Amino acid sequence: MTATTPMTATPIDGKAFAAHLRARIATEVAAMKARGITPGLAVVLVGEDPASQVYVRSKGRMTREVGMNSWEHRLPTDAPQADLLALIDRLNADPSVNGILVQLPLPRHMDESAVINAIDPAKDVDGFHILNVGRLATGQKAMVPCTPLGCLMLLRDRLGDLGGKNALVIGRSNIVGKPMAQLLLRDSATVTVAHSRTTNLPELCRQADIVVAAVGRAQFVKGDWIKPGATVIDVGINRTDGGLVGDVDFDSAAHVAGAITPVPGGVGPMTIACLLANTLTATARANGLPDPEGLTP
Ligand code: NAP
Repeated sequence: MTATTPMTATPIDGKAFAAHLRARIATEVAAMKARGITPGLAVVLVGEDPASQVYVRSKGRMTREVGMNSWEHRLPTDAPQADLLALIDRLNADPSVNGILVQLPLPRHMDESAVINAIDPAKDVDGFHILNVGRLATGQKAMVPCTPLGCLMLLRDRLGDLGGKNALVIGRSNIVGKPMAQLLLRDSATVTVAHSRTTNLPELCRQADIVVAAVGRAQFVKGDWIKPGATVIDVGINRTDGGLVGDVDFDSAAHVAGAITPVPGGVGPMTIACLLANTLTATARANGLPDPEGLTP
């Protein structure tokens, strides 16, 4: 393959898809406001981590842009866990708060599971509460983690019915890999989950109609691992000297795949859009309204 080989893959424009989704959410928020309901999202940040501060700021901005209420709560790095749990209790009890997001990672002295499981599952817009994890795994109505939900929307948009497709998820984290596998299984794909102990990854990849890469290693998945025509979703965000790159070697993969998400501009923008979608869904459920169409699996 040379630099002059034409790219065959259609780029999957997550940025445009997410913008469209946010516009739809804004319309639904306006309709809810007309009924006297304003969805609201509270984001909690503990500490000064620069990347987390950037994420929290952009989450707040986008929440306000779709017309929702947005609150930001900050605690110092050395805050006792009891202070965070007391804040979560207050937010759980506040009927104007429909969604609660605790920005991760937390400082080391805090027990992440205990904190996440203190959030009211109905307000757990990250979908990390153990009840939501169990509900997703057993096919019940759940709050679904934002990044895999965004990947699912892109896949359905591109492929329609995912039933019977061979899907490979690379990575088994609780926030991306495992819920992604659950969602694909729910859509009747035949799902394989690979991880650091997987021995035949290139071979598995060559059989996959769908590849979702959530590894955290720059340009790890090579073009010659990809089945011709496959749909490739690159979740990775890796900062390199050459800029932001994904977990897939885009240049080589784009010559083989049928469609591929770029980094940046692929999955990333979908994550925040799905956070807003989850906040809208949580608001609808809290008010006895049906789930907004197309925003839940
Ligand atoms: P993580 O918790 O570090 O999990 C990485 C997974 O990759 C693990 O399951 C690990 O296996 C597996 N892995 C590591 N080396 C491997 C190898 N050589 N072969 C096969 N699998 C391997 O990461 P994460 O939180 O899931 O995030 C993954 C990537 O997505 C990161 O780049 C992150 O920045 C990005 N991300 C992006 C978004 C977004 O909005 N776009 C959201 C979340 C995450 P083991 O379990 O065996 O260790």
